[in-house]
Amino acid sequence: MKKRSIAIVGYGTAGQTLSILLSRDHHDVHVFERAPTPGPVGAGFLLQPSGLDVLWQMGLLPQVLEHGASVRRLYGDTPCGRAVMDMRYTALHPHLHGMGLQRGALFSLLAQAWEHPGNLQADTQIVEVDTDSGRVRDARGTWHGPYDLVIAADGAASSLRAQVQGTRLDREYPWGALWCLLP
Ligand SMILES: Cc1cc2nc3c(=O)[nH]c(=O)nc-3n(C[C@H](O)[C@H](O)[C@H](O)COP(=O)(O)OP(=O)(O)OC[C@H]3O[C@@H](n4cnc5c(N)ncnc54)[C@H](O)[C@@H]3O)c2cc1C
Repeated sequence: MKKRSIAIVGYGTAGQTLSILLSRDHHDVHVFERAPTPGPVGAGFLLQPSGLDVLWQMGLLPQVLEHGASVRRLYGDTPCGRAVMDMRYTALHPHLHGMGLQRGALFSLLAQAWEHPGNLQADTQIVEVDTDSGRVRDARGTWHGPYDLVIAADGAASSLRAQVQGTRLDREYPWGALWCLLP
């Protein structure tokens, strides 16, 4: 495949993963992240088999298994003991399981696996994508590019998605969650 110049906006799990995979395909990858110090947001999370499969294909599964804990059953009940969720991965396939992982562990593993960390531009919020020229503008007014491809990996509440034609569904969740790590 011809070498492409690619801009990724957002260094979350999606942006991190793409930076590795596209660099491995020998593309010229530049990442823009609005956070001054890129890092994990939140405490821990549950990787599903589909995510574990991607990490396996990236050759990172052994490291992830080292830092995580297998989850074979999801169970939740109310204060009076009524079960509201009881799901076993083995009901889908005997080999399937989830993986409980700290977000910081996954962030570090993915960051270490990218061979071009110098191509990450932090503290740079992208506010505009010019789809005709393939350039992006940051909040300070500086234009970057042109790129052959611009990927908006700026998360569920993306401000860039609306600037790209063809978005069918873009709905913010009307609820939130409290999250913590316990022994
Ligand atoms: C409370 C909670 C619990 C969750 N639990 C789980 C779970 O257990 N398992 C699971 O699989 N998923 C879980 N999720 C969902 C998971 O966190 C998301 O699906 C995942 O983080 C999405 O990754 P992403 O890279 O697309 O976006 P994000 O992780 O949101 O990353 C987007 C990045 O883009 C940056 N950015 C945004 N706008 C700009 C801009 N204009 N310019 C430059 N940078 C920008 C942000 O700073 C951020 O770093 C949970 C989510 C929440 C909120």
